[in-house]
Amino acid sequence: MSNILLIEPSYRNKYPPLALMKISTYHKLLGDTVIFCKGKNTELKNRKWDRIYITTLFTFHWNPTIDTIEYYQHSVNNISDIYCGGVLATVLHDDLIKKFPVTVTPGLLNRAGILGNDEHIVDTLPPDYSIIDMEKNTYLKYSYPLKNAYIAYATRGCIRKCPFCAVPTIEPCFSPYIDIKQQIDYIRTNFGEMKDLVLLDNNVLASENFNEIIDDIKKAGFYKGACLEYKKNGRTIRTKRYVDFNQGIDARLLTKNKCKKLSEIAIKPLRIAFDHADKKSVDLYKAKIRMAASYGIEHLSNYVLFNFEDSPEDLYNRLLVNADLNEEFREQGSNSRIFSFPMKYSPVRGTNSLDRKYIGVKWNKKYLRAVQCILNATHGVVGPKKEFFHRAFGRNLEEFLLILSMPEDMIINRSKYERAGITDRWREDFSRLSEDSEQYYFIHNKDLKTLNFSESQHNILSYYISVQ
Ligand code: SF4
Repeated sequence: MSNILLIEPSYRNKYPPLALMKISTYHKLLGDTVIFCKGKNTELKNRKWDRIYITTLFTFHWNPTIDTIEYYQHSVNNISDIYCGGVLATVLHDDLIKKFPVTVTPGLLNRAGILGNDEHIVDTLPPDYSIIDMEKNTYLKYSYPLKNAYIAYATRGCIRKCPFCAVPTIEPCFSPYIDIKQQIDYIRTNFGEMKDLVLLDNNVLASENFNEIIDDIKKAGFYKGACLEYKKNGRTIRTKRYVDFNQGIDARLLTKNKCKKLSEIAIKPLRIAFDHADKKSVDLYKAKIRMAASYGIEHLSNYVLFNFEDSPEDLYNRLLVNADLNEEFREQGSNSRIFSFPMKYSPVRGTNSLDRKYIGVKWNKKYLRAVQCILNATHGVVGPKKEFFHRAFGRNLEEFLLILSMPEDMIINRSKYERAGITDRWREDFSRLSEDSEQYYFIHNKDLKTLNFSESQHNILSYYISVQ
């Protein structure tokens, strides 16, 4: 019997670490003792473990990941008893090993024997929910926002190889069908009923078993309109259940038949990717969103990738497409609404991938910060109301670019500075600035607090020092 420690570094994460939950099941089947903790814990660090697993996520989590390995490196007899898997460990395999000679398990744990035992395939095991239950696990001081949900995969891998995506490296083979019914039954029996179903599939529409997957979802109790009933304080509570393919679906593969199938389940939201701003991609996106709405799918959503090959204009135009579609649905009396989540691109490979500082060729430091400021005010979501969209992002492209150039606090507290007349003064001064000037360059590319200014430069730059 071995003592096993499972660690997720301390970065914030909405989703519990599914791979560690499956590794927990695996080791418990072998009769081992398993403890899970998020981040650093002195008591656990001071013990000796037969093996420690450290999961990794985005490559821009490099620093907290390295910090965590360093922290626990003496808690095993040999550093090779620390096992690292997940996205960062797979993509930056060589860099990680150079830093610490840990054991890296790249890609999926989808073959017997990867962790030693030949009988079990870790990836097909059900997840152990007890390790993320703070009442059962006293070492856990972190509450995962998503814990009342079955989390599963109905497919693995993807048929495409998008350059900004790590999936082709981590899951290079496409598996079109995994039976989710068994997994859900196991979780229900061992850890109780969960309200929602979150499917982490990368490209479920590429599966030739798509109809079967939808039928499995319905059989598992997630048909359209499904509710969960439970007792609380002697009262019966009924709450709606939802299914979320949280990685989004591929608009290119959405047909009428697939849309009809999706409309038969309790989908909320249906996330349709909107990564490109060229006319062909926009036309395709609009057609598929309208198709989904025509099948009565009400909650539509998307990740809008920016800071890749796109420009700020491309971001604005895509958000405007969604604002216009929302307006169209409202005028038609349709209940469908789109909520957008702009998502900043960070490279998955190379030196730029180790933090979130990458600046796309058509972006600059100021514009990226400014988009973040706008999104902080909207909690990361661009909602369906056009007047809010106009207020947050501007009535047109020109206004959007002007907002992006504003001092940060002026973006966040728009009304305060407008009432005080400061925004108008800034706009007048800013409009006199030539795009070739040194000040214009400083505003968009430098941290102004670190610079010394001459008298002549100071006028416009002073807004950015006093207002941010
Ligand atoms: S379709 Fe999606 S999952 Fe597949 S490679 Fe492209 S971005 Fe990645």
